[in-house]
Amino acid sequence: MCFGGNSSRSIIATAVFCFVAASASAQPPVEYKVSFPAPEHHYAEVEVTWPDVATATLEARMSRSSPGRYAIHEFAKNVFDVHAFDGRGKELKPSRPSAYQWDVTGHDGAVRIIYKVFGNHVDGTYLAVDESHAHMNMPATLMWARGFDMRPARITFQPAQNSRWRPATQLYPTSDPWTFTAPNLQYLMDSPTELSDYTLRSFTVKNPDGQEFTIQTAVHHDGDPSVITEYAAAAEKIVNEAARVFGEFPVFENGTYTFLGDYLPWGGGDGMEHRNSTVVAQATSFRNPQAVRGTFDTLSHEFFHCWNVERIRPKTLEPFNFEGANISGELWLAEGFTQYYGPLILTRAALLPPDPPDLVQSAVTVINNPARQFRSAVEMSQMAPFSDAAVSIDENNLRTTFISYYTYGAAIAAALDLSLRDRSNGKITLDDYMRAMWMVHGKPGGPSPAIIAKPYTLKDARDRLAEVSGDRTFADDFFDKYIEGRELPNYEKLFARVGLVLRKRNAGAPWVGLMDQAVGGGRSRRARPSGNPTAADVGVHVSGLVNWGTPAFQAGIEEGDIITSADGRAIATIDDWQAAVRVHKPGDSMPVEFNRHGTIVKATMHIGEDPTVEVVMLESTGKPLSPDQKMMRDQWLMSKKR
Ligand SMILES: [Zn+2]
Repeated sequence: MCFGGNSSRSIIATAVFCFVAASASAQPPVEYKVSFPAPEHHYAEVEVTWPDVATATLEARMSRSSPGRYAIHEFAKNVFDVHAFDGRGKELKPSRPSAYQWDVTGHDGAVRIIYKVFGNHVDGTYLAVDESHAHMNMPATLMWARGFDMRPARITFQPAQNSRWRPATQLYPTSDPWTFTAPNLQYLMDSPTELSDYTLRSFTVKNPDGQEFTIQTAVHHDGDPSVITEYAAAAEKIVNEAARVFGEFPVFENGTYTFLGDYLPWGGGDGMEHRNSTVVAQATSFRNPQAVRGTFDTLSHEFFHCWNVERIRPKTLEPFNFEGANISGELWLAEGFTQYYGPLILTRAALLPPDPPDLVQSAVTVINNPARQFRSAVEMSQMAPFSDAAVSIDENNLRTTFISYYTYGAAIAAALDLSLRDRSNGKITLDDYMRAMWMVHGKPGGPSPAIIAKPYTLKDARDRLAEVSGDRTFADDFFDKYIEGRELPNYEKLFARVGLVLRKRNAGAPWVGLMDQAVGGGRSRRARPSGNPTAADVGVHVSGLVNWGTPAFQAGIEEGDIITSADGRAIATIDDWQAAVRVHKPGDSMPVEFNRHGTIVKATMHIGEDPTVEVVMLESTGKPLSPDQKMMRDQWLMSKKR
């Protein structure tokens, strides 16, 4: 169905949308049948039929990536027992031009592929089948074919025998409760589906124009169904508070948005955003009703994404590429700003006690992390394919050269929110910026659901800031220095305006960069062929890469070294090591010895002052909040309810 608007402009847009939707549905859909003959063995059986195949070769693929997860995942590895047929049922032998593709030639205009796919991993990316549920993320489950991107799909699920499963999904319903449709491939792949005996709750929300939507929570869990009452009540507070940031809810297709919850002791933890739904999972038991409260932050984060990413989408992610890793320089905004808003919305909705230092903790993490010297926020974002649940066998140095774009982006969001508030005495905020991004890039919609008409570029994001702040120089400066550059905003000044103090955690304390990180094990007893440690193996084992620029780094110490002596005295335990550093003052030199690959190396460490910072409430330092600080802080944390 099509949703109308009020202005003449949106009526034209709606008419275009209906025309496109109608012409697309004139093509026969790709048909899927998904069944679970033996769920205890963790596989689904999938039958997919492509009608009207116009090319001599049908190129069937399994995805290599999944919406919202940026690393390569190689879902093809779990596909087995593949058979291909033509429209009359004659078996054809597919060829394999790549590890992810099955080419079918010699068909009669229709191709049917039947396969099994294994999955036993509950999260927002993979497939999980067991007797309690079929938890399907479509890229991990369904083959698709090149050239059919705009073809609608029709998918019928057959539940496991004797199960009490029911379907929950953002796919479009039909008159058959087990059959759904999707208008195009992007929407199909974006539609996780849960078949289980879940607990369903729903409530209605309303936009300023009077349009209503149903928000539902379909939660698969092991607790008493009554615990979901608190869960759904929290979801209602969260979604309404989030909508106040943007001024309205997006128009959810089919009028519904669904939280697909999986809270099982044998499950996994994750949250993954989609257009009209989200997968929210945690390895927990709702037999303990307290556990319910531990899930709210993920609900808040993921729901914010139904604007930010799902509709306000960077051009680098549009359309989503299922054939490779997706690289985006804008994840500091797409993920990081969402990360900032998650707890802020919980605070405004009174689901979290106000904790201003916690809301800016990401900034403290970035300040304390020397990795920021190597990559800007844009460049950190571009590392997502190597960090977002990426698997690698070889060593990498991400620990010392990478800061998550979640953390980095949340730090930038805090700086931008507090900067806008500071400049305007609280009149202009980050909410105004998000709303501007929504009006220009999200709200206009697209030619078909999950196809975005006006995705934004880095320049667009910069231009919206110039408009919202009314100051092009401020916007250029902020982007040049803190987003595309590697400089830090003046957090000390920004924090002060809301009564927060940024200060050294251990002012004047001696520091070598190896006190509480990268050192482990105490007494190191590496296995020798004889099984007994030798004297040279006793010491403090440096168990992680050493941070750049630290005194330890400059002394040439690295992961794997065993520190055996300091100031001429033997070091056997971490306590020995910390005591050896503590007797010094910043500026001192300390001779050290370490064992590298069986050889003793002598070096000198130049003791520095601990540069670690922390943020605390002004009140905790014994000073009172000024009326201005109190007003600025209250405005920041207050519900936007009018
Ligand atoms: Zn996210």
